[in-house]
Amino acid sequence: MDIGLAITGGIESLDEVNIEAIVSSGVSSLLIGCYEDELRWEAERMAAFVLEARRSGLECYAIPWGYGRLLDPDPRIPSLYVHTWPQTLQIDSRGRRCPKACPNDPRFLEWFNSSIRTLAWLLEVNGFVWDEPSFHYSRGTWSCRCEYCQRLFRGSYDKELPKRLTPEVLEFRRQSIAMFLLAARAAIHAVDRRLRSIVMPPPLASSSFRYTGADDWALLADSAAVDAVSLLAVGDDESFIHSKMATYTDAASAVAARGKQLWVWVTSDLEDTASVVRQEQLATSLGAERLVVADYISLVELHGLERMTRILAKLAR
Ligand SMILES: [Zn+2]
Repeated sequence: MDIGLAITGGIESLDEVNIEAIVSSGVSSLLIGCYEDELRWEAERMAAFVLEARRSGLECYAIPWGYGRLLDPDPRIPSLYVHTWPQTLQIDSRGRRCPKACPNDPRFLEWFNSSIRTLAWLLEVNGFVWDEPSFHYSRGTWSCRCEYCQRLFRGSYDKELPKRLTPEVLEFRRQSIAMFLLAARAAIHAVDRRLRSIVMPPPLASSSFRYTGADDWALLADSAAVDAVSLLAVGDDESFIHSKMATYTDAASAVAARGKQLWVWVTSDLEDTASVVRQEQLATSLGAERLVVADYISLVELHGLERMTRILAKLAR
């Protein structure tokens, strides 16, 4: 199985990455977090790193983080866009703006398209990972009720956007995320049609998963915008994995049935051999093409470079 390694620490962490050690451990790809605010000023540094990694034989994938915060759930990730374009942010069911751009707002789509196209021009990556594209949902409060969402809903369903999260609204949100992914893929394909497009839906294990708009794996895998779907496996406790196995298997089958690749992303610290075995078994039993381990910096801090290299080599064998 291919082993990917995530680098999530931003530009500053790139100086600490030992590409030679990664290659020698049998890792075949790097997935690199690209923070909106950093990439505004430091894209060349990132480009130089990607070039070096590619020359060493590693595939590289960019994960845009920030970028209106539509793509990642972590509110700590700064996004200058969110502050400069507040009028394009999602509006929740209580009428408040959320710090997350609306995928149906044409002004956001235009900015996103241009930013991602620039990123694709600058970085010689093999593809992009769209991390947890989702609508806001929290304790029954949901979005989006902005003027564009209301207008689109009316156009599709010939009625006003309901105040409650009805099955039609849930379906409308899923279609909106699917359309957004098509726009994202079009942005990178405007630069190079060989660039791969991978979507990582919010974790299946989370209780609010079905309210994110990215919960229908069959719809995602069906999309021409998606070459691979990445399963975000949170928690590596054996009984936890066991309890989620039926859900994981259904999702993996939906992807396989559509001829798309499945990647499994694990956030475990891989502290012991048993953990390594569990991650590998999970990915293998789901028929995954790639196991992505997150992340480089924390693994080195935990084990030191040499031991980490041995752990990864064990996975990559
Ligand atoms: Zn909206």
